[in-house]
Amino acid sequence: MSVLAFKLSQEVNGVSKIHGRVSQEMFNKLYPGYFPDEIHVGYVTNGVHYPTWTSKSWQQLYKKEFGEEFLNDQSNTEYWQRIFNVPDETIWKLRLKQKQQLIDYLRSRLTDDMTRRNDNPKLIFKLMDAFNPNALTIGFARRFATYKRAHLLFTNLERLSILVNNSKMPVQFVFAGKAHPNDKAGQDLIKRIIEISKMPEFIGKITFVENYDIELAKYLIRGVDIWLNTPTRPLEASGTSGEKAVMNGVVNFSVLDGWWAEGYKPEAGWALKEEQTYESQDFQNELDAETIYTTFEDEIIPIYYEKDASGVPVKWISYVKNTIAKIAPEFTMKRQLDDYYSKFYNKMFVRSTLITDDNFMLARNIAAWKRKVLRSWDSIEIIEVNLPDSTQKPLSLGENFKAEIVVHLNELSGVELGIEVLFGQKINDEVKKPLFIIEMTSEKRENGIIIFKCDIAANTAGVFDYAFRMYPKNKDLPHRQDFNLVKWI
Ligand SMILES: *Cc1c(COP(=O)(O)O)cnc(C)c1O
Repeated sequence: MSVLAFKLSQEVNGVSKIHGRVSQEMFNKLYPGYFPDEIHVGYVTNGVHYPTWTSKSWQQLYKKEFGEEFLNDQSNTEYWQRIFNVPDETIWKLRLKQKQQLIDYLRSRLTDDMTRRNDNPKLIFKLMDAFNPNALTIGFARRFATYKRAHLLFTNLERLSILVNNSKMPVQFVFAGKAHPNDKAGQDLIKRIIEISKMPEFIGKITFVENYDIELAKYLIRGVDIWLNTPTRPLEASGTSGEKAVMNGVVNFSVLDGWWAEGYKPEAGWALKEEQTYESQDFQNELDAETIYTTFEDEIIPIYYEKDASGVPVKWISYVKNTIAKIAPEFTMKRQLDDYYSKFYNKMFVRSTLITDDNFMLARNIAAWKRKVLRSWDSIEIIEVNLPDSTQKPLSLGENFKAEIVVHLNELSGVELGIEVLFGQKINDEVKKPLFIIEMTSEKRENGIIIFKCDIAANTAGVFDYAFRMYPKNKDLPHRQDFNLVKWI
């Protein structure tokens, strides 16, 4: 389906900056002759719908503090900045209220689920007692696709038990999710988490809620303190649940992948770095698990429990405020739609008018031109290539790189042609991306002969490889890969 969509669409975009880049690499082979970063794929990072995902309590507070105009201008950071004027205590109380609502909801939903499953009544009562409305609460809820790596947290159960059972600084995790019916690994993982949740040391500390749906998502993303996400890099296209959390003053802890690579700000959440450290995914999983435990132990938990005389965790609230002021405005649906308009929709509107005018005149012309070029592309002859002999004597800085290519158009006489010279540096015997691309000038001669020339000042030191790329030119094409025909010389 993606290939079909690529072939039928003038514009293509990823749903985050990294996803845009990954898509260029994934679909590079549809456009032979081009490098991944030349592929005509942009990106618009997903956002979330404020009225759907922000709790009523937060919406009331925002309305009061940000003013009436805010709703029509949600991506404007000026409004969100005003969260800094709200007393820490107000925010702390709101957060606690939302957590209490989550726990009430979990109690009722889990009692129903567990009774239906014939779970032991003792276990049910124990669990209901164990939930702690004052404990640092961490949410992890999503599809249980393997790339989300829900297992990471369970790499070291001993360490996890110490982490959650500290009586001065208790921690509880709520997991929720669904696995695809054909995803055995995902289902086994859910089974394993449910098993762990029934171990005496983890009752109420690790909880799994079945049948993750929008209602549960709403309670979770506004009720927990930390939203945890641990995807395998770079497979998280965007991830939106963390954006929902942000609007509700919930702090994220996630891999710098998808939206979080753009959203993360220091003192406004925690992050696992973007680059893989190891080539082996097993080693990478181990490293990430260690980093997750350490970040909880050394940073997240102590900051959450560091309270002032009136019982308010001032530093924690500063993380909450930073999250709201510095991250939330960037991930609203308003910002997403603005991006789609400015990057795509306005352009496509103009283009669609242009292409359908006069009974599709432009479309007919382009189609006829493409047919002609395609039919006779191989008749083009390269008659002469004159290159500088840089093997004898390298170019010095200040000297010019001069080249000349003579082409005979044969059957394509009258068609416009372009030749560009690409410079790149080899890594492991391969040029991964061009560093400079410079278009040659052309002079037409008699009988379909064209002379292409370049005269480029050498102003960058180093050893470069170069090559020439020829392509048919038509100012009416929306972009180069709309007609993917090139010949390397
Ligand atoms: C937001 C949401 C998702 C998507 O979450 P990701 O973080 O993008 O994986 C999935 N399911 C439900 C019910 C949601 O509300």
